[in-house]
Amino acid sequence: MTGSQKCSLSSVLCPPPDIDRFGATAYIAAMAVREILILPDKRLRQVSAPVKKIDAGIRKLVEDMFESMYDAPGIGLAAVQVGTPKRVVTMDLSKKEETEKNPQVFINPEIVWSSEEKATYEEGCLSIPEFYEEVERSAQVKVKYLDLEGKTHQVEANGLLATCLQHEIDHLNGVLFIDHISKLKRDRVVKKFTKAAKRAATEGRRAEVGDDP
Ligand SMILES: [Zn+2]
Repeated sequence: MTGSQKCSLSSVLCPPPDIDRFGATAYIAAMAVREILILPDKRLRQVSAPVKKIDAGIRKLVEDMFESMYDAPGIGLAAVQVGTPKRVVTMDLSKKEETEKNPQVFINPEIVWSSEEKATYEEGCLSIPEFYEEVERSAQVKVKYLDLEGKTHQVEANGLLATCLQHEIDHLNGVLFIDHISKLKRDRVVKKFTKAAKRAATEGRRAEVGDDP
């Protein structure tokens, strides 16, 4: 999820200069920014599989997801968006005036309760760049999940966290936020991104041909 006007990550992306540079660089070198799938990529519609064991592979996936999410920048990312259909979500809802990052991981997140009361937020998505639309969802949710140590937690969320959790858990079920807007608006955005993908593919092929000796 991208934060539009509500959450900018610009300050956390530019740490103050007194931070241990060597340490930060060494940490970043171990991680990799993965390509984020863009609408209408069919892989975004896959239903993600539960994580059975939190091993080195999952920990690396989570590191790469944070790296990709901060790089984008975005405030939430589901593993399926980087092409790994596993039930893993990363999030950082820290405000731009806060210098501390607040990375959060949700493994196998599950909504166990949602309020009747609704809330509307303008949502965006790293898989649908630069498109924002208001979406109505439950104002509060209770979400059960595992942390990186495999410990079970339950969070009672409201506000942006509630919206973000519902948005990201939707991804794990192959659902995009545009599925919650009017068909007219959805068709329009899908058409726009389908055209852009075709154009990019054609240009890619031309570039390949051009590279031939
Ligand atoms: Zn999204």
